[in-house]
Amino acid sequence: MKSKKGAMIKTKKTMVETDVVEDMICDFCGESCKKDTGSKEIVKFEYGTLQASWGYWSGHDGEEVLLYVCEKCFYKIIDSK
Ligand SMILES: [Zn+2]
Repeated sequence: MKSKKGAMIKTKKTMVETDVVEDMICDFCGESCKKDTGSKEIVKFEYGTLQASWGYWSGHDGEEVLLYVCEKCFYKIIDSK
């Protein structure tokens, strides 16, 4: 088997733009879901979600709902049942 000489791989550095989540706001109280981790590098959000996909037999046929809820509001909702 002959070795192939002169083969060249060209590379190019590319900048990939990524979306970084800076903040998450609770849909109920409007407060940030960001938690203090004690580190500037570690950004942590704590939240729950309320999701619904209403169908024909509901009063909101075709409505898709996705709400982000902070820890405080989440348990307010759970505990108020
Ligand atoms: Zn909230």
